[in-house]
Amino acid sequence: VIEMRAVNKWYDDFHVLKDIDLTVERGERIVICGPSGSGKSTLIRCINHLEAHQEGTIDVNGTRLNESSRNITQIRREVGMVFQQFNLFPHMTILDNLCFAPMWARNTPRMDAEATAMRYLERVGIAEQRDKYPGQLSGGQQQRVAIARSLCMNPSIMLFDEPTSALDPEMIKEVLDVMIELAHSGMTMLCVTHEMSFARSVADRVIFMDSGEIVEQNTPDAFFDHPQMDRTRRFLSQIL
Ligand code: ATP
Ligand code: MG
Repeated sequence: VIEMRAVNKWYDDFHVLKDIDLTVERGERIVICGPSGSGKSTLIRCINHLEAHQEGTIDVNGTRLNESSRNITQIRREVGMVFQQFNLFPHMTILDNLCFAPMWARNTPRMDAEATAMRYLERVGIAEQRDKYPGQLSGGQQQRVAIARSLCMNPSIMLFDEPTSALDPEMIKEVLDVMIELAHSGMTMLCVTHEMSFARSVADRVIFMDSGEIVEQNTPDAFFDHPQMDRTRRFLSQIL
């Protein structure tokens, strides 16, 4: 469902993505890890065109990502994204946060948008918080709202950029549990995370990036137990 071929990207003269080839199959769950500044966020942000690449091709569900705004809109319909900072609308209730995009970008009637929103709030375990504002929720609850909000747009692919790294330790698990449940539901997922227990238990493939390159990729067991490259071994020895 995602095909990246020889993708290169520069920020001015800084070469941030170098010849990235990546194919993701439907239902595949991928974890991307690597040192700070290696290009992980840039890579996944290119998939929904929050960043533009300069060379190579990216296809998402058969649509070519180029400057055609029609294609970009089409791809963003299919790709949900969750960030480290939850990016909820602070002046709207939880329920309104979830209904906003379906109502205003998709013309969904309020009743239907609310019904869908409540279904996802129940799924992430915070239906009873529907009338609160984001500032009244814990970080873990806000991140679960952010995941539910993405799901309300019915994406076929979900991108996660370090969704737990701004959270206190005791809240990490409640967010990972939602992600694990999503993984088991068959969602295609690309997750930038250093939560290696999550990678081991749900990833089909772990990708290690360094200096803008995909250095190594493998199943989690092979990746963690028998890393092939020195750079991977050095990275793993620092984080495990
Ligand atoms: P982290 O683990 O810290 O989130 P990352 O692997 O996600 O790192 P990126 O955010 O993709 O890394 O950044 C890769 C490199 O590109 C970094 O050196 C960063 O400083 C640089 N960079 C990122 N965004 C921009 C930008 N908008 N303009 C210029 N340089 C940028
Ligand atoms: Mg990043």
